[in-house]
Amino acid sequence: MNSKSTTVIPLSEVGRARPAVSVPETAVPATGSLLDRLGRPLTDLRISVTDRCNFRCSYCMPKDVFDKDYQYLPHSALLSFEEMTRLARLFASHGVRKIRLTGGEPLLRKNIEGLIEQLSELRTPAGEPLALTLTTNGSLLQRKAAALRAAGLQRVTVSLDSLDDAVFRHMNDVDFPVADVLAGIDAALAAGLGPLKVNMVVKRGTNEQEILPMARYFRDNHGGKVVLRFIEYMDVGATNGWRMDEVLPSAEVIARIGAEFPLVPLEPSAPGETAQRWAYADGGGEIGVISSVTQAFCHDCSRARLSTEGKLYLCLFASAGHDLRPLLRGTATDEDIASAIGHIWQGRADRYSELRALRGPDSAESDGNDNNKAPRRVEMSYIGG
Ligand code: SAM
Ligand code: SF4
Ligand code: SF4
Repeated sequence: MNSKSTTVIPLSEVGRARPAVSVPETAVPATGSLLDRLGRPLTDLRISVTDRCNFRCSYCMPKDVFDKDYQYLPHSALLSFEEMTRLARLFASHGVRKIRLTGGEPLLRKNIEGLIEQLSELRTPAGEPLALTLTTNGSLLQRKAAALRAAGLQRVTVSLDSLDDAVFRHMNDVDFPVADVLAGIDAALAAGLGPLKVNMVVKRGTNEQEILPMARYFRDNHGGKVVLRFIEYMDVGATNGWRMDEVLPSAEVIARIGAEFPLVPLEPSAPGETAQRWAYADGGGEIGVISSVTQAFCHDCSRARLSTEGKLYLCLFASAGHDLRPLLRGTATDEDIASAIGHIWQGRADRYSELRALRGPDSAESDGNDNNKAPRRVEMSYIGG
């Protein structure tokens, strides 16, 4: 170990001490419907399967922090696939209907297909299979798409910030070419993992000039089988140096695309949907915008997040998670763990984006850094998007 590595603070642990999760004295039975303090149901679970990634997108894992000395979670800390599946089953008993695998880069987790196979066996209390999706940077998708589909994955979301090779290589910061991600997208469609979503994080001054080329490309080449979604650059984590002036509001994205291709608003396809949907007026498919900075959507946020090591986070901007792993690795029964999950969700009042909007978006940039009294927020690569 060199001298630098002894001083590296693993961000996954910073400021995140919470008392161990205990089994509540009053049981919270799994009834298939669980509401938090703001009346929001628990329907959506995101499971981060690794905190590692082969990209270094500056808005997520900036290279100067996530360098060779960065301390990732040790293997013994990671939940096994059996532990993840057990938790997912208990979440489903409380009403979760959709599971998204994320990371880090989920396709880096060895034999991820094995996890997908196990999760695809799960059922809702009404006997329905869960919706099973995965978010990926696409780098390994060409190789893995068919096996993921065969294992039971239904859909994928691929992140792609630019079609311009130089811009993309700069943004992923590991010199990864656009062509390989596009090949991954095509392989996913060919394998039956569509309709597919493509997520583009828009940073003003970095890739805003790519909005229209991306819109044209996915409209023209994919005949409605790809839904392109523009994500406002968010103040997640504590390392990306977020600044409000680098956020391009979704309203501006819609105005720019609408000037070339008239758009009409669509109704949400499901309650709690993060994206606002828009259709091309000429029938050329749809796009979406995810406006977590300029238009908070906390009021119907039904998403729980499980970190790779088994901590339950109630908000993307949380600084601490509820550690379920000791229960999993102890003597707790399924009923005990389901009760603990129920109790935690019933206590949830998180609504970070709404509060940020009330304070004014500029307030966000001071949160999460070391000079601020607020506890340091969890990293997106640790908790998943
Ligand atoms: N590595 C996978 C990927 O990139 O798709 C999955 C994990 S990544 C953390 C999930 C999503 O979060 C990606 O679509 C990524 O673009 C998005 N994301 C990461 N940091 C972000 C930020 N600061 N603002 C907005 N979106 C961000
Ligand atoms: Fe990796 Fe995804 Fe984060 Fe980019 S956004 S660094 S691909 S985890
Ligand atoms: Fe949900 Fe938190 Fe995002 Fe609000 S800020 S939508 S509560 S994850």
